[in-house]
Amino acid sequence: MSSLETANSYFEQAADVMGLSSNMRTLLKTPLREVKVQVALEMDDGHISTLIGYRVQHDKARGPMKGGLRFHPEVDDDEVQALATLMSWKTAVVNIPYGGAKGGITVDTHKLSAGELERVTRKFVDEIHDVIGPDKDIPAPDMGTNAQVMAWIMNQYEKFHGFNPACVTGKPVELHGADGREEATGRGVAVLTRTLFEHQKRDLAGARIAIQGFGNVGSFAAKFLCEMGAKVTATSDAHGGLVNEEGIDIAELIRYHDEHKTVKDFPGADAVSNTEILTADVDVLIPAAIGGVLNAENARDVRAQYVIEAANNPTEPEADEIFEQRNILVLPDILANAGGVTVSYFEWVQNRQHFRWELDRVRSELDRILAAGFNRVVTIAEEKKVSLRVAAYILGIGRVGRATVLAGL
Ligand code: GLU
Repeated sequence: MSSLETANSYFEQAADVMGLSSNMRTLLKTPLREVKVQVALEMDDGHISTLIGYRVQHDKARGPMKGGLRFHPEVDDDEVQALATLMSWKTAVVNIPYGGAKGGITVDTHKLSAGELERVTRKFVDEIHDVIGPDKDIPAPDMGTNAQVMAWIMNQYEKFHGFNPACVTGKPVELHGADGREEATGRGVAVLTRTLFEHQKRDLAGARIAIQGFGNVGSFAAKFLCEMGAKVTATSDAHGGLVNEEGIDIAELIRYHDEHKTVKDFPGADAVSNTEILTADVDVLIPAAIGGVLNAENARDVRAQYVIEAANNPTEPEADEIFEQRNILVLPDILANAGGVTVSYFEWVQNRQHFRWELDRVRSELDRILAAGFNRVVTIAEEKKVSLRVAAYILGIGRVGRATVLAGL
């Protein structure tokens, strides 16, 4: 199933419970603008590579549009559109004053030199600078992009529009970035996992956790969950997986990953395949990599009782249904990974006020916002007797829908 079919299927499930008219469904699902551009790049060896870049701006009823930029070989129209709609619901679930957007370039960054990555980024900004901006649409990191890429985006945008660091978030701390932005998505995943356990009257201390993906989100989630007393017994990246029933030493693994750029062959654990991580014998499964990894083929083999969606769109609807039948509780992406965009919002606020917050303030404001989103979603799930995912969609779609109706067309 495509990413867009997955996102639409969850939208329709919530819209059915809400009793939304078909006209309203079409209005809310249709993106405001889709931009697709040529990104022509001169490679270091002199040959020309022609890449395709995307920016989909889905909805701006609640504020400027917001969402990451993904540089990955699987980026296409369908995926970017799906992820843009998820951003509209996500910003609404945590009630920050943004709409939703997403962008990307179909490229394998592992095959680019640093110079090529910089040129591709700047060329992309040349093509889209007039449709983005601090009051229009604010990009941020996603898979394959990082603080350095955001610094180049800011610098290139400012060549056209003048000083304006709020035009992009996730920047380096030394260049108008926010303390706590880099850790925010992973830390939010850990905080929400703990909140879910508290709500279930279970102790997170000693809980066994599997995390698929050890990039920015997976590694910070692992670090904070360990600090909270949980045990990460399985993890992986695109090159392979690791299992250690006693708990992997995450501080060591982070050091190993910094040096080798992979978790593969880490001496403190046994090697398994990347996909075996999904069916590991654990209490909590955290997909923190690409979309669509939990599907009809493997959902019956998942042994965790909780799935925390750190990745965007990791669960296909068939798997979601199987999890519901099997009483596996899923904390959906549009809440579980909303820590990143929430701290992006704090960065944007700080840039606009020219006032820097301390890390403690960033963390405590983030915790407050995530707790409010969690409580609201749980209340809707209990009242309407629906899953946490359908409840989160009801909350997000409801807030976007009300803003749309109040403003008028
Ligand atoms: N790419 C992240 C997401 O999917 C962060 C977006 C942002 O900070 O704007 O939520």
